[in-house]
Formats: sequence, structure tokens, C-alpha cells
Amino acid sequence: MAYLVFARKYRPQQFSEVIGQSHITRTLANAVSSGRLAHAILFSGPRGTGKTTVARTLAKCVNCRSGPTTEPCGQCQSCREIALSNAADVFEIDGASNNKVENVRELRENAKYMPAHSPYKIYIIDEVHMLSDAAFNALLKTLEEPPAHVLFFFATTEPNKIPITILSRCQRHDFRRVEIDAIIDHMEDICGRENIAVSRNALGLIAREADGSIRDALSLLDQIFTCSRGEITDEQIIDILGIIDRQIIFDSADALFAGNMAELLSICDRLYRQGRHLMRFYAELIEHFRNLLVVKMGGSGKALSGVPAHEKTHMAKQVENLSEPYINQVLNTLFEDEWRIRQSVSPRHALEMTFFKLFQIRPAMSIDQLIEKIDQLRQGIDPNLPAHGKAAGTAPDPSPAPGQNPAPQHPAEEPAQPEPPLPEPEHDRHPEDASRSHEPGQSAGGPFAQEPVDNADPEKTWEELRDRIAGKSPSLGACLGEARLQEMTGDRLKIEVRSAATNVNLLNRKKSIANLESICTEFFGRPMRISLEIKEEADNPQKQKREAKHLKDEALNHPLVGAAVKTFNGKIVDIKILPTGGNAQ
Ligand SMILES: [Zn+2]
Repeated sequence: MAYLVFARKYRPQQFSEVIGQSHITRTLANAVSSGRLAHAILFSGPRGTGKTTVARTLAKCVNCRSGPTTEPCGQCQSCREIALSNAADVFEIDGASNNKVENVRELRENAKYMPAHSPYKIYIIDEVHMLSDAAFNALLKTLEEPPAHVLFFFATTEPNKIPITILSRCQRHDFRRVEIDAIIDHMEDICGRENIAVSRNALGLIAREADGSIRDALSLLDQIFTCSRGEITDEQIIDILGIIDRQIIFDSADALFAGNMAELLSICDRLYRQGRHLMRFYAELIEHFRNLLVVKMGGSGKALSGVPAHEKTHMAKQVENLSEPYINQVLNTLFEDEWRIRQSVSPRHALEMTFFKLFQIRPAMSIDQLIEKIDQLRQGIDPNLPAHGKAAGTAPDPSPAPGQNPAPQHPAEEPAQPEPPLPEPEHDRHPEDASRSHEPGQSAGGPFAQEPVDNADPEKTWEELRDRIAGKSPSLGACLGEARLQEMTGDRLKIEVRSAATNVNLLNRKKSIANLESICTEFFGRPMRISLEIKEEADNPQKQKREAKHLKDEALNHPLVGAAVKTFNGKIVDIKILPTGGNAQ
């Protein structure tokens, strides 16, 4: 018995059996059942995605004895003839070898006669873009006035090479590359029917190689099947197809992330010894990091259509603890070095150099980690750091310096020393000083043993609270620089921040709020909740403009300015608005 290749043996005979092109088969089925099939249809798309198969199936649909139908019987004369490619009324023409004007003229002559035993005479022209200009012109005449009993189905991988005059007379359907998981499923099904033992992972290797083409996938499966006996292993596929083991790609990334240079070098060595194509490995590595970045950014669906499901899960795990910028940097470096490796007289060593380079990239910290680190650093430099503007300039207090001690617990001492001209009522401060000095020694009296802070003067309490916050977390302190206390109740603080303030996003993070609340709770000696009121007064450019104009007018009309102009016999060239400082004169 003659061996029938898988692609032919398992060629779809119904629309429902076509893999991965449901957007087309559905439309065509609708057109058939509603009797609105166009007389010229163009199928375009990558090779091996089912264009001619769909054209043949459509031919069966309209020429079936029980037709027009969306489910051809497969038994009548038409159906059987079409399946065997020897139908009297369906002509399959290869556009590449029948591309001359004479061929088309012959076709036109033939088309005049009625079909032999079916409703339609159908011409399926494959690779139709190969027709010569003269041939297209001849074809155009027929398309303009087609005989009622004639249908044209064209197929092409390059629709851009078809004249617009032809295109505009065809109904067009674009085939897609078939998703990798759909190809794997299809092959798994066939292997099951053929009693071939093969892992899904192995089928994944074949499907990747087929790059969205069902026909290519099945040809490769054929090739591997004939080379093996009954069972197909991953190794066989890797050897026969000369491809790179997917595991090696994942292992390489793992080794990089784990900082294991020895492992990476050994991978290079292995690839080299096995005679694998290094550039191919490199290209797959680039693709892998591209996919990792997509996964990290939360992408899926189309952006990862070439990745089988089980690999997506693996990828998600691989990037779990990595930052986006880091993966991006790795990917960038791989891209930058591609040319260097390609040009190198010793690609293997060039590849190793690139790996060394990748090791230099330090995984970037997350924002939370960064903020924490900055705060730690600042407090490490000066544990007494009150981190608010006023104290920064004052001379160090000479008296209690020996031994850096409990420090941040005494921020209230600092404001006691500020620029002399601000005499503050000392008694306000004392109860608090007292309450704070108790802090280290507090023990009994529940979690909030401190005396509650006096709320008599909210503005003052707010100021002290801000000092405390700045002492504990300089970055939060800085964020609150322009914030206002809006409301203070027993257990709640409402803080107003301008939406235009640069730090508003930082302040509005969950972690920042939690941090603030814990500082406040400690400060007030009772649980406190914080709510941020973000005031939407973004820097309104209209308003700013109006204000600027107003200021300029005022300056122009000021008598002093007029006098100056007169005195110096000058003229006004420009008026600059200076940023408002503390004291306007
Ligand atoms: Zn039939």
C-alpha cells in the first residue's frame, strides 16, 4: 500500500476540521447557507495554513449533490472527485507554471462551456500572484463579466503582488499563522490515531519549527516518524531537525539569573561540541528574553502566540522575582551584541563575552526597596537626623553628643534650638518631651502606654508630627513638605496634598500609608488612620497664564517702573516673573 503523507491523509474534508482559521470558515459557511457566495474569492496568508484546503472544501460545499451545503456529504460524485483532485468541474491550476497569457485565454475559452455534472465550474488558482501582467489583464476581462456558472478561488502568499484591479473584484480572506498549541493538539491527535508514542514537549519542538504552518508541522512529523521506530523522543527530534533544545534556553536563563557563570560556559561548550548552530541558539535566546519581558509586563494572547501553554507557565515562574528594567537591559545587550557575534572569527568566544557582559547587569531594585534603602542610608549617616529643613543649618548641639544614642526618639529637642527669633512657648512642648522620653522604657499599660498627645493646637501637633515622620522616614517627610493638615479627630488624620505635587504618587502608595499610620499611632499613643485628600488643582496652564499677565501689567503700570524708564531714558524689553520666595518685599 502506498504510503500517504500525514498532510494528505489527514487533510480536512469539512470546514469544522480546518485548524485555526475559524474566522474564515465561519464567514464562508454563512455565505454558502445564505446563497451569497462571491464569484471570485481570494485566500491570502502564510504557506501551509490551509488556503487550498479551504478552497477545495468550499468547492465541495457548492458542488455537492445535496448542496449548496456547509457540510458536504463526501459520498457523491463531486465530493469524491474533489477529494481525489480529479473533479471534472473543479480545475486546480498552479499559477506559477501556468502564468502566461495563453494559459488564461485557454481558461476563458473553457469557462464558456457549462459544467459537466455539477452546478458550477470552479477554478482554483494557487500562487495567483505569479501570473504575468498580460495574464492578469486577460483574467480581468472574465472577472468583469463572469459567466453565472463559474467561480474563481485564488490563493496566494503574496497578495501585495496582485494588481489592484483584480483585488477589487475579489472577496478577500486572510489566513493566520496557526497558534502553536493548536498545531500541537492536531499532531497529538494524529499521533494517537497512528499509535505513535511522543511527548507533548517533543511535539512542541516540531510545532515551533513549523512556525504557524500546519503543513510544515505534518511534513516534519512525517520525516521524524520515518526515521524512528514507534517512539519519538525529544533527542531524536533535536538531532533530526538540528534544532536547539528548549530546555537549554530555559537553563541558560536560569543560570544567568542565578549568577551561575560556570553553568553558562558549560552550556556554550555543550552546544559547540554537539555542533549546534550558535547563531540559532542566540536567536532563540533573544526570543526567549523578549517573551520573558512580555510575560513580566503582563502580556499574553497574541503577543505570545508562538509559545505553548506549558512554557508560558515556566516563563512566569522564571521572571517572578525579576524587574522589568533588568530583563529589558539583558534583552538590549543581547540585541547589541548580535552583530558582534555574527562577525566574529570565533563566535563561541564572542558569545561567552556577551554572557560576561550580561553578568555585569545588576538586577534593578523595586521602588519600595529603593526607598527603604535611601531611608536606611540617611539614618545611617546621622541617626539624629531630624530630616527637616530648619535644623539642617544649625550648629551641632555641643552638650549631649557623646555616643550616638537613642536618637530618633528625641526629635523634639531639635526644634528647641532653631533660629533664635522664634520664641516658642516652652510649656507646650514639655508634656510631649516627657511622653517621648518614656518610650524606650514603656512596658505596662497595653500596646499604647504613652500618654496621648495633646490635640489642643492642631497646627503645632501637625508640625511636630511631621518632624517625627521626617526623623523616621526622610522620604515620607519630604513628601509631606507641602501637605496640609485638613482635619484631626480622635483616630483619624486627613491630610491634604496637591495633586500637582511631585511626590503625590509616592505618598499614595499602600506601603507609604501603612508606614505613616504606624508612625502616627506611635506618636499619638493610640491607633490612627490616615486619609489622603488629593486636591485637584493641577498646574492649570490657563490660570498660570492669566496670573502672569496680571503680574506683568501690574509691573508695567507701577509708578516706580515708569520713573526708572524716564530716568535712564530706556525702554522695557522684557518682564521676568521670579519664583515667589518666603518674603516678598
Ligand atoms: Zn457530496
